[in-house]
Order: sequence, then C-alpha cells, then structure tokens
Amino acid sequence: MGDRDRRLPESPTLSGSQLWQWWRQARTDAIAAEISPIELDRLLEAFSDLERLDLRWESFRDRPQIALKRPWPEIVELWDRRLKERVPLQYLLGTAHWRHFSLTVAPGVLIPRPETELIVDLARGAVEEIGKNLAEGDWADLGTGSGAIALGLAEVFPKATIHAVDRSHQALAIARHNAKISGWEHRIRFYQGSWWTPLTFLKGEVCGVVSNPPYIPSEEVLNLQPEVTRHEPHEALDGGSDGLDCIRHLAAASPDYLRSGGIFIVEMMAGQGEAVAEILRSQGNYHSIQIVPDLAGLDRFAIAHRK
Ligand code: GLN
Repeated sequence: MGDRDRRLPESPTLSGSQLWQWWRQARTDAIAAEISPIELDRLLEAFSDLERLDLRWESFRDRPQIALKRPWPEIVELWDRRLKERVPLQYLLGTAHWRHFSLTVAPGVLIPRPETELIVDLARGAVEEIGKNLAEGDWADLGTGSGAIALGLAEVFPKATIHAVDRSHQALAIARHNAKISGWEHRIRFYQGSWWTPLTFLKGEVCGVVSNPPYIPSEEVLNLQPEVTRHEPHEALDGGSDGLDCIRHLAAASPDYLRSGGIFIVEMMAGQGEAVAEILRSQGNYHSIQIVPDLAGLDRFAIAHRK
C-alpha cells in the first residue's frame, strides 16, 4: 500500500458481501493451517457488530453494512498474524475467558488455561471438608500471572485476604488491572518477588497456598505448540530439567508459611503425579497428600495439608 493510500481515512464499515467473501477464504485458510475456524468467528465477534448466529447462518452476507470496531485492514492483519505467526487468539483480542472472568492478557503473561479453572474448586472443596475457618484468613497465589487464580480465590472465599505474588512487573500490572476490572481489587494484595519472599510477615499464618508454577521440562518448552513456544513467556512454563524445580521449591518453603492444617495446592502436568507426591511425602511436613486429575483424567494437581 502506498503512502497516499495509507493516509486515506479508513472506513469503520464494510459491506456484508465483502466481508462474507473474505470470511469464506479466511475459513479455508484456517482449516489449511489447522486452526479452528471458530477462532475467526471470535475475532469478528470481537471487532464488529456480528454475533455468533449471524456467522453461523451466514445471514450477514446480505447486510449492506457491517459496523467495525477497528479499521478493516487492522482486522485483516490480526487474522494474518494468527495464521502466519501463530499468535494465540487471546493475545490478539487482549482477552481470555477463565471461569466467568473476562481477563486482560498480553504477551508477557501466560494465558490462563481452562484446566486450571478446577484449582479454585479444589481449594474450596478442601476448605469445606476440613474446616471453614480456613476460608477467612490469608491465602496466597504464588506466580499469579494474569491474576486468574487470585480472582478465583477471592470469589470463593469472600472473607479471605488474597496475597498474589509474581516476579514479573508486567504480569503484576496486568493482574492488578484484572482485579480492578473484575471488581475484586479490595480483596487482593499484590507483591513483586520470587514465590514466598515478599510474604515473610505471614510465616506460620497462611491458610492456603495455590500455585500454577512453571512445570514443563526445559527441553519440552521448545517443542510445544508454536502458539505457546513462540509467544508465551517461557519463565511461566519452564520448570527446569525435569520440570519440577519450582514445585520442589514450593513444597520445601511452604510449611514455614502455612498454619497447621493449612492447604497446599499446585498444578503439574501429566506424568508428574508420582514424583510430586514423593516430593511432598519426603518433605515430611505434609499429610493427606493427594494427586487429583483434571477433567481429561490426567494428573494435574497435588493437594496436601500442613501437619
Ligand atoms: N498448562 C500450560 C501449558 O500446557 C503450562 C502452564 C505451566 O507450566 N504452569 O502450556
């Protein structure tokens, strides 16, 4: 496009038939690139006045005008980046849905995964089982990233104070923003630092710690889907040579912070269950150690109680 064209004001609308033609081709391109064409529809829903059913029934084809929320060339370029650079859709939209939160995400912060949603229910279930008083004290989300788990905890434990920690300033800025837009900022305190280090004042008092730490073996981080390997922060994924460095650290450090009976929950990946259970057993300060599968039946979480 020449400079002259670039200066032309861009139209915030497009005719239905133009959009339909582009959409047909973009769908074909998506399928060829092994990307679900549903993602294309999500992009158009986000950046135009089209709704899910307009797209499903292709009824927009006859509309004289579709209102756009971004200039058309920008939308085309975003889709192009999805296909060619394999940028995750959530980064292109700037939003990820998690539980019923709509969270802001950006490169530099891990996109919260659907399987992690369960970690919040696990914490709630553990509290219901062993003692409701744990719901009213201090909880920690270590390595909070987008703040997703902290928000989930704030919601299920309305009387708790949530302490959310991350080493990344960028992640914390996003987590704070997410707490604000979700209306939970008064319930969550944010700290910059490594794991427990900013929370020494809570030693011996914490009711529960929940963490989705990096747990992928370093070598595997380079061989994940291109969306993950190329675009998501490796410091949120890479758990060292066997993937368990952070889980070992959390298992070793948490007993100093948890009160007796306090809950320890971490996420892990398939195949790590036995090793994580052994880390917790040999630490010596935990009881009722359990490995809990996700909805796909894979080892996903470890839960234990401070003796
Ligand atoms: N579950 C994430 C993935 O599959 C990894 C998150 C993590 O390491 N904590 O990419």
